Amino acid sequence: MTHPAQPKASHFINGTYVEDTSGTPIPVIYAATGEEIATVYAATPAIIEQALTSAQAAQKEWAKKTGTERGRVLRRAAEIMRERNHELSVLETYDTGKPLQETLVADATSGADALEYFGGLAASLTGEHIPLGEDWVYTIREPLGLCVGIGAWNYPTQIACWKGAPALACGNSMVFKPSETTPLCALKVAEILIEAGAPAGLYNVIQGMGEVGGALVTDPRVDKVSLTGSVPTGKKVYAAAASGMKHVTMELGGKSPMIVFEDADIESAISGAINGNFYSSGQVCSNGTRVFVHKDIKEKFLARLAERTATAKLGDPMDEEVNFGPMVTENQMNIVLGYIEKGKSEGARLICGGGRADMDGYYVQPTVFADVTDDMVIAREEIFGPVMCVLDFDSEEDVIARANDTEFGLSAGVFTKDFTRAHRVIGQLEAGSCFINSYNDAPVEAPFGGVKASGVGRENSKEAIKHFSQVKSVYVRMGDCEAAF
Ligand code: NAD
Repeated sequence: MTHPAQPKASHFINGTYVEDTSGTPIPVIYAATGEEIATVYAATPAIIEQALTSAQAAQKEWAKKTGTERGRVLRRAAEIMRERNHELSVLETYDTGKPLQETLVADATSGADALEYFGGLAASLTGEHIPLGEDWVYTIREPLGLCVGIGAWNYPTQIACWKGAPALACGNSMVFKPSETTPLCALKVAEILIEAGAPAGLYNVIQGMGEVGGALVTDPRVDKVSLTGSVPTGKKVYAAAASGMKHVTMELGGKSPMIVFEDADIESAISGAINGNFYSSGQVCSNGTRVFVHKDIKEKFLARLAERTATAKLGDPMDEEVNFGPMVTENQMNIVLGYIEKGKSEGARLICGGGRADMDGYYVQPTVFADVTDDMVIAREEIFGPVMCVLDFDSEEDVIARANDTEFGLSAGVFTKDFTRAHRVIGQLEAGSCFINSYNDAPVEAPFGGVKASGVGRENSKEAIKHFSQVKSVYVRMGDCEAAF
């Protein structure tokens, strides 16, 4: 019997599901059981061509609509997503293995927020008037044209919407390629946009591995590429886009610091550390995986952290009581287990967890290492799993320098009751998305993105508009045009 997660077809192009079984088969594995629940096929050159052609045609028509008309479609899509939240959340859980307890409140809902927010902004995207005496300049905010979105596997619905919503609000079209690991959810976003009144071809979804992404990025018809992925992929995609002089947004990896000062509310700081390391089983790019704890409170912090971590409920992700799911794939589980062994062999002190959970599926125990030093591999590389590194510090100046001593710069957090210190420290941290007495909040109203190797450009907020549009300036001379000869 066909599993309910099996989509009607692999791709969604020009307003409808399209299949081409001559592409490489991509099995979709449910991470909680290891069972194959669906199969899609990688896009062939013919499928890529159909997607680009239809997106290019649809964009021309879409850009002629008023912002109010475009926004109405996005806001209607947001309503449909909210109406179907339960079914979309179940699909997100099948796609990723994340617990339903999370997906019900974080995935289709945040996708809907993006559609609603950018739908609301669409009508107010205007240029400006610049008076120059008698003459004047006016500017027009124009769409870029055909945009490509390429997704990672941790938030398949959210990523499809975070890229699609601002792109469409600005009058662009999109071809979105989800991660080959989680190909299911973006198809639903495409389907819902059509139901909401988007023209056929405006938002297409095609499947495939890196080669399909590469073919999209190098196509001369593509004007912009927005990638969510790892730093090595980001470097390749950025370089390929640069050779075609395309616009880019790069949302990449991190190894973000969270600093807990001696005056912090310890329970609140532990909540931040748990949210910033164990939510989605640690598969979150902005996670605060280097938790710097002031040496005066370190042991108290660790003891209470271990107590609270022991209450994590691992199990069937469809059980709403479960709050900790498996790694997305067996491969990702093995990568994380490899890092845990590395941490042990490097001499970090294991506080809790430290291995695979004794159950079916790709579960890794929530793991905390203490006495981690800056040079350890587990403190330097992005693990992308439930492995928290706790490091000690003594002075503010020292911890800022150590927090910044990384190629990454996605996020950073500070826990302290001293607000002067909080702002002083945040002001010196090299990170794009920061938190004071909190961690990993990502409302659509706030810009999201990294500095240094963690990325280029910003998603969400009014900032995203700048990255999906361009400005034309028009000089208007009221008198005669003069020349030297
Ligand atoms: P990945 O880099 O392996 O893949 C990302 C996407 O890029 C996939 O769709 C993949 O098929 C595609 N791709 C791979 N090679 C390509 C190429 N040469 N040209 C075009 N496309 C190509 O990343 P992943 O393993 O899916 O996701 C995990 C990574 O994503 C982590 O590093 C994580 O930190 C990062 N991430 C970042 C954010 C953010 O917003 N900053 C959010 C989620 C995940």
